[in-house]
Amino acid sequence: MSEHTLFPNLFKPLDLGFTTLKNRVLMGSMHTGLEEAPHGFERLAKFYEDRAAGDVALIVTGGIAPNLAACVGPGAAKLTNKEEAEEHKLITSAVHKHGGKICLQILHTGRYGYHKDLVAPSPIQAPINFFKPKELTDDEIKQTIQDYINCALLSKEAGYDGVEVMGSEGYLINQFLAKHTNKRTDDWGGSYENRMKFPLEIVKGIRKAVGEEFIVIYRLSMLDLVEDGSSWEEVELLAQKIEESGATMINTGIGWHEARVPTIATMVPRGGFSWVTKKLMGKVSIPLIAVNRINTPHKAENILADNHADMVSMARPFLADAEIVKKSKELKFDEINTCIGCNQACLDHTFELKICSCLVNPRACHETEINILPTNTSKKVAVVGAGPAGLACSITAAEAGHEVHLFEAQNQIGGQFNLAKEIPGKEEFEETIRYYYSQIEKHRVNLHLGKKVNGPFLKEGKFDEIIIATGVTPRRPALNGIDHNKVIMYDQLLRKERVAGDKVAIIGAGGIGFDVAEFLLEGDSRSSLHIPQFMDEWGVDMEYNNPGALKPKAAMHPTREIFLCKRSPGKHGKSLGKTTGWIHRQSLKNHKVQMLSSVEYKKIDDQGLHLSVNGDDKILEVDHVIVCAGQLSVTNLFDELKESGLQPKIIGGADEAKELDAKRAISQGTKTAIAIE
Ligand code: FAD
Ligand code: NAP
Ligand code: SF4
Repeated sequence: MSEHTLFPNLFKPLDLGFTTLKNRVLMGSMHTGLEEAPHGFERLAKFYEDRAAGDVALIVTGGIAPNLAACVGPGAAKLTNKEEAEEHKLITSAVHKHGGKICLQILHTGRYGYHKDLVAPSPIQAPINFFKPKELTDDEIKQTIQDYINCALLSKEAGYDGVEVMGSEGYLINQFLAKHTNKRTDDWGGSYENRMKFPLEIVKGIRKAVGEEFIVIYRLSMLDLVEDGSSWEEVELLAQKIEESGATMINTGIGWHEARVPTIATMVPRGGFSWVTKKLMGKVSIPLIAVNRINTPHKAENILADNHADMVSMARPFLADAEIVKKSKELKFDEINTCIGCNQACLDHTFELKICSCLVNPRACHETEINILPTNTSKKVAVVGAGPAGLACSITAAEAGHEVHLFEAQNQIGGQFNLAKEIPGKEEFEETIRYYYSQIEKHRVNLHLGKKVNGPFLKEGKFDEIIIATGVTPRRPALNGIDHNKVIMYDQLLRKERVAGDKVAIIGAGGIGFDVAEFLLEGDSRSSLHIPQFMDEWGVDMEYNNPGALKPKAAMHPTREIFLCKRSPGKHGKSLGKTTGWIHRQSLKNHKVQMLSSVEYKKIDDQGLHLSVNGDDKILEVDHVIVCAGQLSVTNLFDELKESGLQPKIIGGADEAKELDAKRAISQGTKTAIAIE
């Protein structure tokens, strides 16, 4: 079977008239943080080079500002002069070396700029920004349009194949388009004709300046998801005018950054928003690109086959695996390291002003630093524990040429990921386990399942290196009544060894407490894989009856009464991811989960959980109490080996249980393997 039989649409070239794209996959724009880092352009060049070598048809860079006010923050990347254009040549030549194509994204943040000199059509502060924008004057608007055109010309000079004009996600162009943010009474505000003028002048000006043979993508906000956003009629009209103005393709934008609807997190169904792009198919004659949570070649093919779009954009999947397109073409699906939509090392890093990476691929954006080189001295390595830390360590060491023996007490690999994948909305974690199985086979790791090993066994094995990745075990707090049969540890619940009743209290509101609450709501016909139900739950109007496409959220009728308790004061979920914490909080709120803070646990008995909240005694008359009170490292084997004079290394949760997550476990596992000499 060939890629053309299995993917009749995905690998069909796309003829743009003056140039042809080799397949239908676009690598979407991602700000990586390298744009501003020391030696960032060299690092970016390698980052994009690897993706171009991986056969993607077209890459779009992270957003680059056309002037100072447009910047994301102080010192952020801009392209305003020839010296800056010169630096970009590193990137364009690296991509072209592999027959790839790359467009520069021109991004003006408008009122989302995280600096004091921000500007907008009207001086209305964004709810997600501390700074208030200054209103642009008529002259400044005209100059800004010129700056976009200048930026496009400089991109051409730097060797780019085109530009993408960022017109969505609530940035400046969107701010002109929507009544929500454009309250102007001059020629740039009021009627839709006036509000549209800003993007149309930009696209027309760019096309005139760069000539016919240069790609101009316009990223059009097809679904604003804010009050007073664009109506569908406006979206359609804008698309047609953008085509007339000279754009080559239209990419889809979904949701402003301030929208309170999850648009890319893991609980969003795969390809959950391609229906929006489909609405525009046939209304314009230039190619349309679908976006958001498209993370497998099969999903991409379905979207194209169902005529939802002419091309698909994947962004984070290229962090997870630079070769996703190449592996798809070679039909090596099991070897694809799939993006699980967690945001933990990509978007969360961006918001924390850190260099972006990927939880499942710590090499992402660190291609010049983390490299798996073949070893000259192959060693016999024992890795104990096949959770994320041990798995990452084993496949990396084996890829470098070591003889690796991976011992796992259970009959399956994955460690705690086997529990995580049971959480509704976290089904993607299964993909990571599948990926590791493929790599174990590919790199010939000697996998020993159902093998709980001890000190004497390891001593006898005469290993050159022993790496302990025995992970964590749930903490069982010393509460009065902790052995009562109402008590269920979270791992017993998620392994389905015990079933909870209709009224439940959860002790501990960290990541796992939140996840367990979601798990307990499963009986409430949770709909993580159903697009219409997801849209109903989050108030997205697929009929598009209102501007912005919002509607009242569907009322939830939880079948369980759940109390989520924590001892510390304040808001729940502070430790959750920056870009996903609000979603988990909102989801539990939608399902009427009761959040109790400042709790002191007294005892558990036949009546239920006795506690005090801010000093007031209460009894939660629950059927079960689920304990999610953090983790303890499993270090007995490590301690035993040390005592016997061996020098094992320790990684992952076994090394440090506090604030452990899979990002740290996989990164530490990978780096430990690379350091084996
Ligand atoms: P573990 O996953 O605990 O693996 C250790 C392995 O060692 C186990 O398979 C165990 O059987 C084996 N083992 C132990 N002793 C021996 C022995 N003597 N011999 C052989 N084998 C042995 N993290 C995130 O980053 N994001 C999330 O969204 C997320 N969600 C989660 C949701 C849930 C419900 C849970 C439970 C965890 C979640 N985590 C999440 C945490 C993440 O799964 C852990 O951080 C990660 O699994 C730790 O990896 P590890 O390899 O150190 O340990
Ligand atoms: P955690 O985030 O550290 O939370 C542990 C919870 O238990 C806290 O709410 C703590 O709250 C409570 N607790 C601690 N000791 C206790 C005790 N002796 N008695 C009663 N309560 C106690 O740990 P976790 O929820 O087990 O998660 C483990 C790791 O997995 C986390 O670090 C997280 O990074 C990762 N994870 C991440 C996600 C994600 O979405 N990113 C999801 C799941 C897991 P109080 O002290 O306030 O009571
Ligand atoms: Fe995908 Fe998570 Fe990696 Fe981001 S960190 S690219 S969301 S797997």
